[in-house]
Amino acid sequence: MRSLRLKLILGSLLVLGTVILSFGLVVYLAKGRALLSVMDGRLATGVQAIASHVEFDKGLLVFEPAEDYDIRRELPQAYRIVAPDGGVIAQKMPGSSPGWPTGSPEEGRLVWTESGTKKDGRWRVVTSSLSVTDEPDGAEGESPGGDLIAVVTIQCAEPLGPVSRELRELASQLAVLALAAFLVAGGGSFLLAGRALRPVRRINEALANVSETRLDERLDPGPFDKELHPLIGQLNAALDRLNKAFRRERQFTADVSHELRTPVAGILSTIEVLLRKERSEIELREAHEDNLEIARTMESMIERLLLLARMDAGKASPARKPTSLAALVGEVLAAAGLEAQKRNIRLSHDVDAALRADIDSEQMKIVLGNLVDNAVRYNRPDGSVTVGARRSPEGLVVEVRDSGMGIPADQLPLVFDRFHRVDPSRSEETGGCGLGLSIARKIVEAHGGRILASSGPSGSVFSIIFPEA
Ligand code: ADP
Repeated sequence: MRSLRLKLILGSLLVLGTVILSFGLVVYLAKGRALLSVMDGRLATGVQAIASHVEFDKGLLVFEPAEDYDIRRELPQAYRIVAPDGGVIAQKMPGSSPGWPTGSPEEGRLVWTESGTKKDGRWRVVTSSLSVTDEPDGAEGESPGGDLIAVVTIQCAEPLGPVSRELRELASQLAVLALAAFLVAGGGSFLLAGRALRPVRRINEALANVSETRLDERLDPGPFDKELHPLIGQLNAALDRLNKAFRRERQFTADVSHELRTPVAGILSTIEVLLRKERSEIELREAHEDNLEIARTMESMIERLLLLARMDAGKASPARKPTSLAALVGEVLAAAGLEAQKRNIRLSHDVDAALRADIDSEQMKIVLGNLVDNAVRYNRPDGSVTVGARRSPEGLVVEVRDSGMGIPADQLPLVFDRFHRVDPSRSEETGGCGLGLSIARKIVEAHGGRILASSGPSGSVFSIIFPEA
């Protein structure tokens, strides 16, 4: 199972472990080197002490330290002095032999080796050469002035056992220390991780209180650490969006039910009245015609609702291709022709034949169809509707201009809302359901454009602007 707490604990232990291990290793190596260098110092002193007491006396090479008290203290635990023929001039060996290496280095050089086995004990050995000369006073074994008698090899050794023992002790002390530090750090990071995760639990509890019916609840960032404020801000913003979406959805469902109730009630009452008594053929026909008209309005509304739902779900993204605007406008005006004729409204357009736009022609027909339809329906008798298109610094602009009743300024921002009608009685009369402009805006926005409305006493203008790259 993935656990943040476990990750925090393991992470801090890993960091601590690396630090302790590196620290322990440095201490261990430094201590080992220090012990060895002290030992090497003693061995080098031993070599020097022996060298100053090797003499050529009465035709023999001898080592005579007996008289000298100080040299006894400087002599190492094991040493030997070897003549050039391999004969041992003097030696001291406590118990086992260090396993002396053979060969002698050039004078003045100290050669350091380690010998022996783990079982019998390991030794640190230093080997050096000494030229013995013939000195009349015989006090000094080595003198550049006399005749060379022989080159002897001096070897001094000390067991490495005590150094290893001391290092082993140090290692076990460090291990105990590391274990204690690990236990303390483990416990500490367990508590700290618990503390660090407490706000997450609190956010969780607060969010658990937010339900569909209490979507207006918000998290108060006050009691939380400042690092968590952006997260709480984002959560609150997400709740805001969710709340708005829920409200919109609820409002939409209520509006749809309301809109459908009126025509359904109309159909029902027509049928009820019809069934009250025997009806003539003409009466029956009139009733059917009324119901047919209501059913057609309902059908158009349901189709518009379905289109809106598909666009909301992002399932109706525009399939753009270069389209002639003059041809498109021509088609839309032709479709509105009959209705315009009925109301004696003149339709005209002012679109350059060469003007083309990268748009979904079917969707744009719906947009312009709605705008022209409105311009005809909300016009005065004998009025006019003009569709124009031009390029402007803002982009491609398509305008639908009418000579109608206009829209009050306070209503202008609302006409694109779903089911909004400036004058419901007039809309009912003209068969509008308040969805045309919201569909138009959705389609235009899906094309990356925007739609604006302006109005005055001489009529309204709806402008679509497609920004051009
Ligand atoms: P409807 O189907 O009711 O026409 P729309 O969404 O197309 O719905 O329009 C919303 C409302 O805006 C209409 O009910 C009408 O009151 C107003 N409206 C739209 N176009 C015009 C216009 N050209 N002139 C005056 N009022 C308009």
